[in-house]
Amino acid sequence: MGRLIAISNRTAADASARAGGLAVAVWESLTSTGGIWFGWSGNIVSGEPGEPDVFTDENVEFVTTDFTEAEHDGFYLQYANRVIWPVFHYRVDLAHFGHADFATYAAVNERIAGLVSPRLEKGDSVWVHDYHFLLMGDYLRRGGWDGPIGFFLHIPFPSPEVFHALPEHETIARAMCEYSVLGFQSQTDRSNFVRYLVENYEAVDEGDGWISVFGRKIRANAYPIGIDANGFAKAAVSERATTAAARIGRFLGGRNLVLGVDRMDYSKGLPQRFEAVGKLFDHFPATRGKVSVTQIAPPSRSKVEEYRDLRTQLDELAGRINGDYGDLDWIPLRYLARSYDRKELAGLYRIARACLVTPLRDGMNLVAKEFVMAQDPEDPGVLILSEFAGAAEQLSDALIVNPHDAYKVAQTIYRALEMPREERKARWEKLRDIVVDQDISWWRLKFLEDLSADLT
Ligand code: UDP
Repeated sequence: MGRLIAISNRTAADASARAGGLAVAVWESLTSTGGIWFGWSGNIVSGEPGEPDVFTDENVEFVTTDFTEAEHDGFYLQYANRVIWPVFHYRVDLAHFGHADFATYAAVNERIAGLVSPRLEKGDSVWVHDYHFLLMGDYLRRGGWDGPIGFFLHIPFPSPEVFHALPEHETIARAMCEYSVLGFQSQTDRSNFVRYLVENYEAVDEGDGWISVFGRKIRANAYPIGIDANGFAKAAVSERATTAAARIGRFLGGRNLVLGVDRMDYSKGLPQRFEAVGKLFDHFPATRGKVSVTQIAPPSRSKVEEYRDLRTQLDELAGRINGDYGDLDWIPLRYLARSYDRKELAGLYRIARACLVTPLRDGMNLVAKEFVMAQDPEDPGVLILSEFAGAAEQLSDALIVNPHDAYKVAQTIYRALEMPREERKARWEKLRDIVVDQDISWWRLKFLEDLSADLT
């Protein structure tokens, strides 16, 4: 394989940012072949953006550009995060459609494509990431590039009926079909996309991922993203992890920990989860005083109104549940609106008796995989996983729940707390085997293998 050219909204230009899943995988891929990584610098400027920042780290060149205030607003805050994000997570009710924002979204895709095109050389493969750059392939083709372009969507792809709500659905779908290989997190996402093309444009699913549409053949497959599984297992027994576990241990005072770790986002089903916790203490009185639920929920995108509303809702719900059930020496539901280092999280996962991963919709959900890898093999905790998380297709040995069914979730938490060690071990071993086999390196190699097939 020749050089790899990666494009994503945020790059891992800063070495400390290479800890997250996507950043690790893209960095590993780029250093193994050499290449260029394009993206936003993270800066917002009041005038014109000026020349991009270009610098090299190892054999990787970074090309990053500032956004103007109008670009940051229309492209990032509005169209990407208030239109595509809600619609792709099935929350059409939260979308704020606006033609001007789509124009800015398209213009940013075009401007960045304009930075990429002149730097492409024969033999290169391009790999575009995520919902910020759905149109990138189209602009690169218009710029004259006919080599391979892969695209990976980290968030769900909605059912065709929901995708139709997007006024620009046809423009977006046609642009997506300019990619050579389209990667989705799950079979559900992949079949939603293919069904949309079949129903609207007489596409033909040719098997083995191939689709004929708009007079050409493209490939669309599910490539569920993984984590650095062995690295995470090590992190769970690191000093930082053990210290964090000891700190929460002092608070628990021997009670069982039920843990949740989610960015504060409406896709994560936090209000529904809090309702389920209320039902746990209501319907299963044996848990009162014996179980502490801790929800870590770092606020995100706090400039977007819907996120501020969620915060208020969670504050109210947690207050009510603690008011109803709490006692002088017991806080039933603790909710911490701040972020923790991944090593600290690893320590918390390890001592949790159960982990609640109950999104209403989620692309993958890496927390589920991290929880699995952090467990003590001799005494593992139980993963409670929403059927609507991308991870549910791989992690079917977790306790799978419908996050809308609060009573059933409460009952499942109780079941997890009562589960005999033998069953916990048997379930955990199957989960661990999958997370280890289908780790982050497996994911990138599987995707890049399909992408490089397009070079021949
Ligand atoms: N995370 C973190 N600190 C926190 C909360 C979360 O480092 O306080 C990390 C977590 O370990 C995981 C990622 O953020 O790697 C969340 O990824 P996931 O796929 O679960 O959800 P996303 O936030 O991408 O929707």
